[in-house]
Amino acid sequence: MQCKKCGKECIESELTNGYCSDCVKKYGLNSQEIHHKRNQVSYVISGFFIAVIVIGCIASIFGLMANIVSGILIFVGTFVLAISLRAVSEIIQLLEDIKNK
Ligand SMILES: [Zn+2]
Repeated sequence: MQCKKCGKECIESELTNGYCSDCVKKYGLNSQEIHHKRNQVSYVISGFFIAVIVIGCIASIFGLMANIVSGILIFVGTFVLAISLRAVSEIIQLLEDIKNK
């Protein structure tokens, strides 16, 4: 087994999530940080994702009160936008993960 960061050969039991003990100490990588190290851009987009859903739901309710067609259109629009944002955020995260390998 090789350390993901420095490439040092280690036996598997010496590695923490694929990082050797030297790298864990040096870079302060603990198992949680390695797993939850999310890209900041991806974070911001995730925030937008939630905002879009909340605003979209409120707008749909107002739309439905005006007329059913506009309510449904706003709802579908929100849904498509939310899914796209989620996908973009996921792609950014995957690229970041690849970069960090
Ligand atoms: Zn290492």
